[in-house]
Amino acid sequence: MADVAPGLRCTRCGASVARTRHTRSAWVVGHYVLHGGPTEEATVRRRDDEAALTYRRLVEPVLVIACPACFREPAVQRRWVTFGEEDAA
Ligand SMILES: [Zn+2]
Repeated sequence: MADVAPGLRCTRCGASVARTRHTRSAWVVGHYVLHGGPTEEATVRRRDDEAALTYRRLVEPVLVIACPACFREPAVQRRWVTFGEEDAA
């Protein structure tokens, strides 16, 4: 397959995934990707007289890839919807 995205495999089923292909009037999504991972609370203070800002720092970047077939699975849909909320409680 000429348009397989090099090195990218579906996280769920392990299939090689294709690049998204564009034609004149439409596109075909080859795969779906989530960038994220566990986060922790961190603070940053820009100046001494400013209040510190709290933000979520990405501890361990995780790449989640789904092929179009797996993306239609309810469990995968749930993961997409709730991504990043798992450790928010
Ligand atoms: Zn898959």
